[in-house]
Amino acid sequence: MIMEFCPKCGLMCSPRKVDGKMVLVCRKCGKKITKYKPAQISETVKRKPKDEIVLISEKKEALPKARIKCRKCGNMEACWWLQQMRSGDEPPTTFYKCTKCGHCWREY
Ligand SMILES: [Zn+2]
Ligand SMILES: [Zn+2]
Repeated sequence: MIMEFCPKCGLMCSPRKVDGKMVLVCRKCGKKITKYKPAQISETVKRKPKDEIVLISEKKEALPKARIKCRKCGNMEACWWLQQMRSGDEPPTTFYKCTKCGHCWREY
């Protein structure tokens, strides 16, 4: 339903068909309002950032190593680093990368 108010008397106008066109006519003074904008429905879609694991293979040597068992090959050494997954509200996630097979996983 289209809602429009008369600029002259401020009353709500009702849509009426005049000469094959839909016009809004004031119930009191009969003023025709032909220019009206239908309410636009704007949908804001919030996109969540992807949980992507960025591999820092180039800086592998610089990363600290931890004694942790690789779930893939059973190696007892893995590089680790912290990565912020989402903006601010969550603590950074610890990532591990096996020094032997290169398998990557994260610790919650
Ligand atoms: Zn009016
Ligand atoms: Zn491994």
